[in-house]
Amino acid sequence: MEPKSAMRTVTLPSGERVPALGQGTWHMGEDPALRQDEVAALRTGLDLGMTLIDTAEMYIGAEDLIREAIAGRREECFIVDKVLPAHATRAGTIRACENSLRQLVTDRIDLYLLHWRGQVPLDETVEAFERLVDDGKIRYWGVSNFDVKDMNDLFEIIEIDPQTNQVLYNLTHRGIEWDLMKWCHKHDMPTMAYSPIDEGTLIGNRALDRVAERHRASPAQVALAWVLRHPDVIAIPKAGKSEHVRDNRGALDIQLTPRDLRDLDNVFDAPTAKIPLEVT
Ligand code: NAP
Repeated sequence: MEPKSAMRTVTLPSGERVPALGQGTWHMGEDPALRQDEVAALRTGLDLGMTLIDTAEMYIGAEDLIREAIAGRREECFIVDKVLPAHATRAGTIRACENSLRQLVTDRIDLYLLHWRGQVPLDETVEAFERLVDDGKIRYWGVSNFDVKDMNDLFEIIEIDPQTNQVLYNLTHRGIEWDLMKWCHKHDMPTMAYSPIDEGTLIGNRALDRVAERHRASPAQVALAWVLRHPDVIAIPKAGKSEHVRDNRGALDIQLTPRDLRDLDNVFDAPTAKIPLEVT
């Protein structure tokens, strides 16, 4: 079925607009028996405008799978990739990026993130990111799994260039609503929500089912519509099956009502105090 609504976009600090609904790839490309379906799923997503594809050097096999899926379609895609903290030194970041470029068989990564904060001083990683931008190997950079203190530390070093913070956000993990989301909003930085369906565990939740029934929608669609109710949030669900990708695309056709939101709040608690940033 054709999606009713056009792909919504979110504007990065650079001014570039990217799809609000992209595609994750964690655990994709690991099982040869699933490869054909996974390639088809990513291509279905591209056909439906979900052209932002998230990956990481840590996701074994995913970069190679993306290479195959986007063959001949690189210009349509906005590729988000991540460097492991242990590699994120001045020289190590460059090496990791070049390795990812080789895996992807492309000349640039659109958005390169520090996967989480490790032992390497942030200014070293930032310096490497800036060099990669100057060399045309990445277009933009950002961070992932950064809590408010980490963001403040980052902004002590540089304010203009970071494009996003990719963090865990879904109905069962709402901690960032307390402070981090507001921090990002105040700094005009979109949040990229990972595990928006809570790794699939939200499927089967009764409260979600009830809201879904009212909209003649699927639970995954409601979970995604809930994350996407914020205009500056990008969601990157992973789906290895084309029918799931099509279903997810339909989330943009759903407008949750105040009653839906109240019903979901009754089951999935909003934070009432600071919760240290949760990660998967
Ligand atoms: P997720 O997207 O919340 O959930 C993925 C699971 O949901 C898969 O089992 C998938 O099944 C299932 N699913 C997807 N659409 C569905 C639908 N319409 N109906 C029923 N089931 C559906 O979990 P995630 O993979 O953890 O997170 C998404 C992406 O975020 C990752 O792939 C990765 O790119 C990124 N991520 C980043 C970090 C970080 O530290 N920065 C951490 C975790 C994840 P099928 O595959 O069988 O379709």
